[in-house]
Amino acid sequence: MSVLHKNVIIIGTGPAGYTAAIYTSRANLSPLVFEGNQPGGQLTITTEIENFPGFKDGIMGPALMDEMRTQAERLGAEIKTGTVTGVDLSSRPFKLKTDSEKYTCDTMIIATGASAKWLGIGKDEELSRDGGGVSACATCDGFFYRGKEVAVVGGGDTALEESVYLTRHASKVTLIHRRNALRGSKIMQDRAMANPKIEFAWNKVISQIMTEKIKLSGSDEPIERIKSLQLKDTTDGSLSEVRVDGLFVAIGHQPNTALFKNQLAMDQNGYLLVEKGSTRTSVSGVFACGDVQDPHYRQAITAAGSGCMAAIDTERWLIENNG
Ligand code: NDP
Repeated sequence: MSVLHKNVIIIGTGPAGYTAAIYTSRANLSPLVFEGNQPGGQLTITTEIENFPGFKDGIMGPALMDEMRTQAERLGAEIKTGTVTGVDLSSRPFKLKTDSEKYTCDTMIIATGASAKWLGIGKDEELSRDGGGVSACATCDGFFYRGKEVAVVGGGDTALEESVYLTRHASKVTLIHRRNALRGSKIMQDRAMANPKIEFAWNKVISQIMTEKIKLSGSDEPIERIKSLQLKDTTDGSLSEVRVDGLFVAIGHQPNTALFKNQLAMDQNGYLLVEKGSTRTSVSGVFACGDVQDPHYRQAITAAGSGCMAAIDTERWLIENNG
């Protein structure tokens, strides 16, 4: 297998990765960008984005990511479908491999983002596959719950946004939150509270996911599907049951940093650590941007901003180190 060498390799294609690609392309660094598992990142599974500057009427998440991709390619970025399976940052040039290719690079920009967290109760993650009635993406799966009753768990902006979105399809949405105060922004709280189809289950955690086996038409094999949720009150421990056709898990995200374990410094939650005011990681020549290094803001615009910073840090690093 031949090994190709690049000035800059960018891993990830959310707003951070694409912005880094746009800037490094304009700096004539001919970046190679790996799309990763979820091309376009988390914004491809959201609906309308109202807070990205420049779109006064809002823009759909996938459309915004298509624009960024086209812009990066037009400026000269090479975008590859495929997932990076290993990196070696122990010496320069850095090494990187996919299932079928090997590369070396002078600099690396990590923009691998974050993924939805699961509850870890019973089979929530398993049930999210093969039509079991559990999902972490209302805009992807909400359509299947037309006229049905669903629950959303979480109290942040994602849970509120998903609940409001689901009322377009479902007849009732129960928002389950472990406290009696929401974490999400005031505007989203007001929208959810004003929606007559949303009912709040305050101070409740899901203690059990009850399932049933059902046969779908056209298939001999029964599948396991969610039937109801057992809720436990966090103030007095009392139990109750809510019947649901679907459960949407919206309890936050975890950074996609498994590839860099024991190679780059991370915090206790696995977010990459960068030097204050920069995108420099613990390895010289490796930069991180977007949600993979940001447990605080996690917005498309802050991710894009840090992608720009990573590109500029990379360009300066190359000038200083490669002459
Ligand atoms: P957050 O971390 O903000 O919220 C997670 C929520 O899930 C919290 O309410 C938390 O409860 C709850 N939770 C966490 N773990 C569990 C658990 N094991 N069981 C039950 N509940 C749990 O994540 P989000 O994904 O909502 O938002 C992430 C960031 O993205 C935020 O900064 C948000 O503002 C932003 N965002 C912005 C949007 C927009 O501007 N349009 C849309 C969506 C997200 P507790 O509150 O008790 O900790």
